[in-house]
Amino acid sequence: MDLSLSPEETQFRDELRAWLEQHAPKDWEHRRDASIEQQFAFLRSWQKTLYDGGWAGISWPREYGGRGASLMQQVLFWQELARVSAPPMANVIGLGMVGPTIIAFGTAAQKARFLPGILSSDEIWCQGFSEPNAGSDLAGLQSDGRLDGEHFVVNGQKVWTSYGWAADWCELVVRTDPTVAKHKGLTVMLVDMKSPGVEVRPLRQMTGESEFTEVFFRDVRVPVENVVGKVNQGWDVSIGTLMHERGTLGAGMQVTYQRNIERLIELSWTIERGSRPAAEDPLIRQKLAQCYAEVQIMRANQMRAFSAISNTGVPGPEGSIQKIFWSELNQRLQQVAQELLGPYGQLEAADRHAIDHGAWSYGYLRARGNTIEAGTSEIQRNIIGHFVLGLPRSY
Ligand SMILES: Cc1cc2nc3c(=O)[nH]c(=O)nc-3n(C[C@H](O)[C@H](O)[C@H](O)COP(=O)(O)OP(=O)(O)OC[C@H]3O[C@@H](n4cnc5c(N)ncnc54)[C@H](O)[C@@H]3O)c2cc1C
Repeated sequence: MDLSLSPEETQFRDELRAWLEQHAPKDWEHRRDASIEQQFAFLRSWQKTLYDGGWAGISWPREYGGRGASLMQQVLFWQELARVSAPPMANVIGLGMVGPTIIAFGTAAQKARFLPGILSSDEIWCQGFSEPNAGSDLAGLQSDGRLDGEHFVVNGQKVWTSYGWAADWCELVVRTDPTVAKHKGLTVMLVDMKSPGVEVRPLRQMTGESEFTEVFFRDVRVPVENVVGKVNQGWDVSIGTLMHERGTLGAGMQVTYQRNIERLIELSWTIERGSRPAAEDPLIRQKLAQCYAEVQIMRANQMRAFSAISNTGVPGPEGSIQKIFWSELNQRLQQVAQELLGPYGQLEAADRHAIDHGAWSYGYLRARGNTIEAGTSEIQRNIIGHFVLGLPRSY
C-alpha cells in the first residue's frame, strides 16, 4: 500500500487547504454550551458554505451534484477539515447514508428531487429503522404499510431516530407483506416528516442532549412513487444503507482521535501528579502511548478498507471491523482522558474551570453510545464471524 500523495491528490489538498483557510469557522469548539438547535443551525449554514464552494458530497458522482472525487481525496477532505478543527456537516444521515442509497436504488425522479437538497442541507434526513422490539434484529420490525390506491398508509413506531427533531424527510422501512418470512415483505420509503400523522418525541440522553427521538406514524399516507427499490424487497435496500453507515460513519474519526490524543499528551505536561507533570507518571505515559499506537492502527486499517472499497465500489462486511475498532477505541481514549484530567474531566461546558469547554465530560458520556449505534459490537462480531471469516451463522 503506497500512502504517498499523487500530484493530483497534492493539488486537491492544497486547493482545499486554501479554501478552508478563508472559509472554515474558527470558533466551533467554543459553541458547546449553545442549545442543540443553535448548534445545528450553525452546522447547517456551514454545510451550505461547503456546498456553495463545491465541497459537499465530494465523492458523489458529478452527475448527482458531487465532485466525483476519489476515495483518497475523500480521506484527504476529512483530514484537512480535522486539521483546522472545522465543524462537521449537519446532514450526516443524508450525506452518508440516504444519498448513497438513493443513488444506488432510487428512480431518476427521486434522484432529481432529493439529492440536491441533501447536499445543500436544505432538507435534513433521518433514518427510521429501529423499533422498540427491533434493533439488532431489524428484520423483526412491525411498522406496517398497507397499499391504498396510489399511497401506502403507514402505522407504527420508530425509536432512537437521530435528528428526528430536525428532519424534513425520513428513510423509513416498514412491513408491507406480513404473510412471508421476516426478511421478505419489507419496503423502504421516503417519508415527508411534515405529513399529517407523524409525531416526533425527543428522548433525553445522559449527555443532557436530545440528539435522538421516538417517531410515531398514525395513518400516514406515503405516495407509491416514494418507494425506494421494489415493494417487498426493502431488506436489500436497508442493508445497502447499513453498509454505508458502518463503512463511512467512522471515516472522519481517525483524525479527530489523532487530535484528541495529541491534545491529551499536551495536557499531560500541564496537569500535575504529586507535584510533577502527569507526563512523568509511568502509568499515564503507557496509557497515552497505547492510545497513540491504536490511533495509528485505526488509520492503517482504514486505508486498507478504503483501498478495498475503491476496487469494489461499495462498502462490504469488512466495514464491521472499522465499526468495532473506532467505537471501542473512542471509549478507551475517553477513559484515559478521565484518568488524566481527574475531577476536571467531569466539568461541563458552562463551568468556567472546564478544560477545553467541557469537551472531555461530553466526550466520555457520548462515547458510551458508540458501541450501540450503527449496530452493537456483538452484532458486528457476528457479521465478521459469518461473512468475513466464514464461520457458522449465529442465531
Ligand atoms: C447514539 C445512537 C444513535 C442511533 N441512531 C439511530 C437512528 O438514527 N436510526 C435508527 O433506526 N436507529 C438508531 N439507533 C439505534 C441502534 O441502531 C440500536 O440501538 C442498535 O441496533 C441496537 O438495538 P437495540 O437497542 O434494540 O438493542 P437489542 O437489539 O435489544 O440488543 C440488546 C443487547 O443484546 C445484544 N444482542 C442482540 N442480538 C444479539 C445476537 N444475535 N448475538 C449477540 N448479542 C446480541 C446486543 O448486542 C445488545 O447488547 C441509534 C442508537 C444510538 C445509541
